[in-house]
Amino acid sequence: MRDSRVPAGRCACALAADALALVAGTLALVAGTPALTPPAAGHAAGGVYPAKPTIEKVSCLRRCASQNRARAGSTLKVNGTGLLAVTKVVFQGNYGSADDAEVPVRPGTDTRLQVWVPAAAVSGPLAVVTSNGVGSGPSPPVDILPPPPPTPTAALTPVPGPHDPGAPLLETGTNRTKAYIDARRAVMFSFRVSGPAPAALTVELLNAVDGAVVKTWSPPPAAPGEVQSVSWSGHVGSVTAPPGRYSFRLTAAAADGALARSSPTTYVDRDSFDLYDHVFPVRGRHDFGGTGARFGAGRAGHLHEGQDTFAACGTRILAARGGRLKHTGYHTAAGNYLVIDGAGTDVDYVYMHLLAPTPLAAGDRVYTGQLIGAVGESGNARGCHLHLEMWGVPGWYTGGQPFDPLPSLMAWDTWS
Ligand SMILES: [Zn+2]
Repeated sequence: MRDSRVPAGRCACALAADALALVAGTLALVAGTPALTPPAAGHAAGGVYPAKPTIEKVSCLRRCASQNRARAGSTLKVNGTGLLAVTKVVFQGNYGSADDAEVPVRPGTDTRLQVWVPAAAVSGPLAVVTSNGVGSGPSPPVDILPPPPPTPTAALTPVPGPHDPGAPLLETGTNRTKAYIDARRAVMFSFRVSGPAPAALTVELLNAVDGAVVKTWSPPPAAPGEVQSVSWSGHVGSVTAPPGRYSFRLTAAAADGALARSSPTTYVDRDSFDLYDHVFPVRGRHDFGGTGARFGAGRAGHLHEGQDTFAACGTRILAARGGRLKHTGYHTAAGNYLVIDGAGTDVDYVYMHLLAPTPLAAGDRVYTGQLIGAVGESGNARGCHLHLEMWGVPGWYTGGQPFDPLPSLMAWDTWS
């Protein structure tokens, strides 16, 4: 039951675990990755049994992390046999099919093809699959480093992206490379179109991990040289978007159909940013204390229902996740405290022992990363610290149950 109430924090921990597995290397795990199922015996629809492709060698060709080390956005060269009929490459990863990433490819030659590495790909073997569904065996394992942080494009700069002769000229910029769901300030993508007058403009927001278009804008063409912008707060309709890397892409079409794009249709780095679901709340040097600071530690007559984070008194506390402020007050044990019902989550976030009463009041809208108070030792506290509780539905002291916030805190601490 408890698992179903644990929202984003768990996802973050799973990501952290993946990252550790990457560091641990790939060789030991390769044996656990099943090969693609061989095709059933017999003839294909056309009456010709397609040749089973094989992979002999995989090497990194372009945009490599270092010599022959790949990462998201790299182009790999696959050498083998029977590759002419191949239409997709499967990055098999380490953990069965759950972490597989597929990329469609255009045929190269029978002995060679190229494939770009999607952001979802993790270290492990590749397999190639033909249009008839005939798969190769797994390649030797390929190390795939995690993608580097997005390249900032805070100022408008001309795009190196593809364009037809006679297409409009594009400049783009994105105001941040790190964004938080439900933060006060959205991510803003700005652009300027010059040269041949555009007949149509399209801005797409792409999930950079799988290339899917998350949202599309069709801004009206503006006067030549005028800066236009769109912004995004991490929602698609009323749904919160999953954390991960996203990219904006601008396409401008001239009246005669000539197209210019701010980035290619495959791997997008330009105008990318990482979307996170929480901010680490304590904004200064901190530690998580000893066993007595842990969730579930014994206390006189009860168990410790949160995790303590120790920091100097006066250290700023931000809302880990925005939402609606449910309660605020003073309690002899909790000291100055407040409870925030996290927007788009099933979690109540409870902050205790604040230096002073929060200036916010019940009912207030709180944004992710908003200042809500300072670390103190009000109430029954020894040493300045934030006591954070996280409660599942239906909420804090309304029938919900607290769960251990430490895995979430540790994950948030890695990126904010
Ligand atoms: Zn505590």
